[in-house]
Amino acid sequence: MKKLASAALIAALSVPAFSAEFITIGTGGVTGTYYPTGGAICRLVNKLKKQTKIRCSVESTGGSVYNINTIKNGELDFGIAQSDTVYQASKGTGKFKGKQVKKLKSVMAIYPELLTLVTRRSSNINSIADIKGKRINLGNPGSGNEATALTLFAESGIKKSDLKFAGALKAAEMPDALRDNKIDGYFYMVGHPTANIKDASNSVDVKIVPLTGASIDSLIKKYPYFAKADVPGGIYKGHPQGTPTFGVKAVLVTSDDVSDKAVYTVVKSILENFDSFKRLHPAYKNITKKSLLDGLSAPLHPGALKYYKEAGLL
Ligand code: GLU
Repeated sequence: MKKLASAALIAALSVPAFSAEFITIGTGGVTGTYYPTGGAICRLVNKLKKQTKIRCSVESTGGSVYNINTIKNGELDFGIAQSDTVYQASKGTGKFKGKQVKKLKSVMAIYPELLTLVTRRSSNINSIADIKGKRINLGNPGSGNEATALTLFAESGIKKSDLKFAGALKAAEMPDALRDNKIDGYFYMVGHPTANIKDASNSVDVKIVPLTGASIDSLIKKYPYFAKADVPGGIYKGHPQGTPTFGVKAVLVTSDDVSDKAVYTVVKSILENFDSFKRLHPAYKNITKKSLLDGLSAPLHPGALKYYKEAGLL
């Protein structure tokens, strides 16, 4: 009895010294760009786990809107989300009308992601107007691409009912559906290059449709978080030239419920290994330490603010 009690006492005393803080980052489909980005961040955070006692793991999820809602209810500590959905959640507008997420906080705006309309070339879709009467996947509920595609629809005067079929497949299922001729095209808001579109363009003759014209111009005027950009040429089969479209930033977000220490550690792990981080995915090619602070539409978390100040970035 005595022996047991003292063993318990030793255990109780030694636990706090070794107890680790576990953090989970919500991402997107495994063939997208969020998932390897979460992996890249955790890899750097876990390198320091002996000193920091913070252990990072990554979860594949339904995307931006899911990540924000799941951070809100405390089941995720961090998540990656499109800057348009972060803006709406933080202000309680658009998709988050009446459902403002006040505790949502920014950590960093990592890389640009672009709304990409990937179609079967044989479906003959050459502009946004051509999707009427076609089978188009918008994205699963909870994905950011569904949210942004619907914003584009509203601006272009296109209704879901104008499509022959409005799909809600998950990101990882879209390339196969395109190859198997179950859909004519899909919208994906994603950082390039991405495995998802490589898979699609390697298995079927794909056309990435330019998203340009009056409705896109007015979207960019209306909303601070949209900007024009090209899907780079030469990264997908059949696309030697860039394709014009518009996009947002992929932002790492968290909430007030997450400790300053955890957020500080995440930011520090990335910034102090910035060159190795940049090598972990080609979508980070043009990012700089300064660009990490462009496109933040929720207030910075105090743990992130602390690091940026110390590093002289703010
Ligand atoms: N932007 C997409 C979304 O929020 C996810 C893109 C990715 O997984 O890389 O649904």
